[in-house]
Amino acid sequence: MSTPGTPARVLVLNSGSSSVKYQLLDMAGDERLAAGLVERIGERTSRLVHTPLASGGERREHTGRIADHGEALRALSRELARDGLGLDSRELVAVGHRVVHGGPRFTEPTLIDDDVLAEIEKLVPLAPLHNPANITGIRTARELRPDLPQVAVFDTAFHASMPEHAFRYAIDTSVADAHLVRRYGFHGTSHAYVSRRAAQLLGRAPEDTNVIVLHLGNGASASAVAGGRCLDTSMGLTPLEGLVMGTRSGDLDPAVVFHLARVAGMSVDAVDELLNKKSGLVGLCGDNDMREIRRRVDEGDRAAELAFAIYIHRLRKYIGAYFAVLGRVDAVVFTAGVGENAAEVREAAVAGLEGFGLAVDGRRNTLRSQEPRLVSPDGSRVAVAVVPTDEEREIARQTFALATREEDPSYKHA
Ligand code: ADP
Repeated sequence: MSTPGTPARVLVLNSGSSSVKYQLLDMAGDERLAAGLVERIGERTSRLVHTPLASGGERREHTGRIADHGEALRALSRELARDGLGLDSRELVAVGHRVVHGGPRFTEPTLIDDDVLAEIEKLVPLAPLHNPANITGIRTARELRPDLPQVAVFDTAFHASMPEHAFRYAIDTSVADAHLVRRYGFHGTSHAYVSRRAAQLLGRAPEDTNVIVLHLGNGASASAVAGGRCLDTSMGLTPLEGLVMGTRSGDLDPAVVFHLARVAGMSVDAVDELLNKKSGLVGLCGDNDMREIRRRVDEGDRAAELAFAIYIHRLRKYIGAYFAVLGRVDAVVFTAGVGENAAEVREAAVAGLEGFGLAVDGRRNTLRSQEPRLVSPDGSRVAVAVVPTDEEREIARQTFALATREEDPSYKHA
């Protein structure tokens, strides 16, 4: 626990291949001090958008080439310094990094040292698009503040509690084990935060609450969480499996890949690009933004209607499957861009499922709010809820807990 006056700031970095999103949080006052984004790193039109939140200052924006992640971090650090929140500040206790793939080894937030960094590098073949950017962010932050604890918070970690019958694919075990092929799951920070917050909303202890979390953003995943532990999740070895997403197919017969290779003469890379970038909603109707799809549905556009129907059908299959995994469900919880905003998706996902104890109240469901809320009618057997996700706050919470525990001599020698 921190007391007033004790340094308690955490910088959260989410480094993508050409972007860095950041937030500075004060854990003592549970306050967001600043947030921002550097995008198009390496291009001439790089852009930094910085919003000071604590001081109520104006949003600031700069465009112009930012060559690499190192420069991006120095630029965002200068912006923070202008608000008196610089990276050199004594108040800053740790940097928390989002790392997409933790493989089989990293099942907890982890203090980064050379050995940990080398292990994260070994996982690059499992997440070739994401882990290299995360590693660059870590290296740069370590260069800037070598004295600060740097903590890796893995997208896969929350799902490490899945039992083997859920995470193991039904393929030859020696091949699977040799190549680390299994279900890992992603969006774990969000599933952890949202499932815990949903239990609070219901006024129940997390240990005694079973929820189905539907994280529906551009990427989308479902999870079955019992007593705070994940029992199953829809993403797999990579974020391609499961629900229909903005540009990813989600589930399909793996033989589609061989078929396209043999019959259409497509290379593995071409099929990879097809399934990850040109499928899902965009492949079905040309749009991946649910607002645009709903607008087209309202105009009677047939391709948009079909894309929406396929999206909802897959979602309902996972809701049904996770009822069977959990046995007892206390709440179905919607989160992320689509889940938090698209009332039509929530309504269609549970329509006709009164037999499962599920329903939405029309007025509650269409009310707009940033707060966690119930959208089911009073007295429903299973609650339907919207809980806005907050991955940065969860990364900061886990980072702060680990960094301050490491500094506590009574913990180390206990
Ligand atoms: P990610 O973090 O995966 O990029 P987000 O969680 O930010 O995604 O979700 C982005 C998606 O949310 C958009 O592609 C859009 O489909 C959807 N979205 C955002 N706002 C709305 C809205 N008001 N109504 C419907 N869908 C929305």
